[in-house]
Amino acid sequence: MFNNARLYFNLYAGPVVLLIASYFLHSFGYQSEDNPYISQFGSYMVYAGKAAALVAAVWTARNIWKLWRAFQGIGDVCQRCGGPETYISNGRYGPYYKCWKCGSNCSERKHN
Ligand SMILES: [Zn+2]
Repeated sequence: MFNNARLYFNLYAGPVVLLIASYFLHSFGYQSEDNPYISQFGSYMVYAGKAAALVAAVWTARNIWKLWRAFQGIGDVCQRCGGPETYISNGRYGPYYKCWKCGSNCSERKHN
């Protein structure tokens, strides 16, 4: 149960934060269009909001793709639970993989 919560957090927390930022960029951008002093800046905020929503969509698709690959056993897969992993190149003890689901770390040297 807790492990699945960790997996969902890793899958969706980043895109959801970005979508919330996108919403505020949109709403502040549209509000400031009525204000002559910052109306140009406001349209940039609207564009930034659209870009943030696009990035969030691509990010979600990429995360689901990584999850699908882990289910198929393709690519970097956790040796303990089979979940998807992130490669972290600057770990204190050298490069390692961190699991999205169980949170375990695995050194690159011992990996696969
Ligand atoms: Zn794992």
